[in-house]
Amino acid sequence: MDYKKYITVVEDWPKQGIKFKDITTLMDDGKAFKSAVDEIVEFSKEKDIDLVVGPEARGFIIGCPVSYALEVGFAPVRKEGKLPREVIKVEYGLEYGKNVLTIHKDAIKPGQRVLITDDLLATGGTIEATIQLVEQLGGIVVGCAFLVELTYLNGREKLDGYNVLTLTEY
Ligand code: IMP
Repeated sequence: MDYKKYITVVEDWPKQGIKFKDITTLMDDGKAFKSAVDEIVEFSKEKDIDLVVGPEARGFIIGCPVSYALEVGFAPVRKEGKLPREVIKVEYGLEYGKNVLTIHKDAIKPGQRVLITDDLLATGGTIEATIQLVEQLGGIVVGCAFLVELTYLNGREKLDGYNVLTLTEY
């Protein structure tokens, strides 16, 4: 499917010079959203996944239907101060700004096979931080799946050696 038809490019948002890829118009379309989720589920089959992990907030939107289809759990990665129990955390640089991501310490058991999902791969900072959290807890990252890749920001360079799926590229 040509997912670009469903994604809206918003000029100069959230600041001048950024061409924001708005996936809400893709989610608005039942067939396009289902097709995207189905492709990620297909990629994930045969990988013997135990758990899906996604960073807030759009990583949840992609990851939860995938975890439901695979009949495995979903663990959220959240900004600092949002998770109620003991967490581990990692700090990283964003395409625009800085961020701290956290995960519950007991969310992943050592040796669990993890799929990470997010809507978009830009500089790769978010996925790199999420991978660090998963691996610090002893999880094995067996795949990373995104709807969109911004190839000009070279996020792939941070994902050397990982199995990566992206459904459309800019
Ligand atoms: P990265 O950490 O630079 O790879 O940026 C990826 C993260 O920022 C993802 O969690 C995205 O949700 C968000 N993001 C960055 N740029 C865009 C965009 O153009 N559209 C939607 N989300 C974006």
